Amino acid sequence: MELDRIKSEIKKRHARRILLQFPEGLINSALKISKELESETGVETFISVDPCWGGCDLAENEALKFRADLLAHFGHSPWPKKPKIPTLFIEARSDVEIKDVVLKAANLLNARKVGLATTVQHAHKLDDVKNLLEEIGFKILIGKPSGKAKYAGQILGCDLSSVSNLDVDQFLFIGGGTFHPLGIALATGKIVIAADPYSGKVINLEEMIKRLLMQRYAHIVKARDATRFGVVIGSKFGQINLELARKIRNKIESKGREAYLIVADEITPERFYGLEDIEVLIITACPRIVIEEGPQFRIPVITPRELNVLLGFESWESASKDLLQYKL
Ligand code: SF4
Repeated sequence: MELDRIKSEIKKRHARRILLQFPEGLINSALKISKELESETGVETFISVDPCWGGCDLAENEALKFRADLLAHFGHSPWPKKPKIPTLFIEARSDVEIKDVVLKAANLLNARKVGLATTVQHAHKLDDVKNLLEEIGFKILIGKPSGKAKYAGQILGCDLSSVSNLDVDQFLFIGGGTFHPLGIALATGKIVIAADPYSGKVINLEEMIKRLLMQRYAHIVKARDATRFGVVIGSKFGQINLELARKIRNKIESKGREAYLIVADEITPERFYGLEDIEVLIITACPRIVIEEGPQFRIPVITPRELNVLLGFESWESASKDLLQYKL
């Protein structure tokens, strides 16, 4: 957790107040960290318990309101945008053992040339995984990111640049959940084996991706005759895509339909209960919302590329190769 770095920054800046922000998986360390920082540096700590999804979700406004001199954001790599207050991104590397799950995943890989990908928590272990797999005969490639991710092989749900042009036959993703490996499968069209070091589970995402694409297409069909669209702009630190939202609005209006720009911080179904005339939502904030939360909304929730298909600007064949990309 790099507490020494935080303490030395507190001392260097003579900070009197610090806001601590954690993703769900790390919040159980908050009390211990708060106590240690307060007792050793005399700083006053505030613990944010609001949801925290990524480096995009920085609690800078809360830090400003509480007149914090410093913000410590745990669990994510630095976001490429300057925060309004001094911020430390504490990446929190996982020390969970991954060798067994990697060897288990190797049994499902049936190509020689394999690309590796992971989230920041395991990025420091990719070279070891590469060596392990090369010892048993695979040729392993690890791509360099060119967007918001920072480390070789690292991906974010909204930055798949480290895998998108890698010349490999299959991918091995190391990390929890299915959102990130689904993104790799969508962006590359290649088979992805996901190895979860926490549960020890290994899955081939081929069937899941087929089901996902069918569901996504069904949403487009359901929304095809809609006349009133909500273009949702996220107000979180790294999720404001105003130009994209305006472009989308113009596209909708160019087809003689109505579009409204809607702003939200947490984009959840309850936020839209009062806007019953809206028939479709296009999310410009974060692709995770569409994939993981979309099914809980009463109306279709789609990505900008899916809107292209709905309005006839792009074919499904073309858009389905890169559904989560927010370029239009
Ligand atoms: S995928 Fe969403 S939550 Fe993750 S970094 Fe990108 S905008 Fe943030």
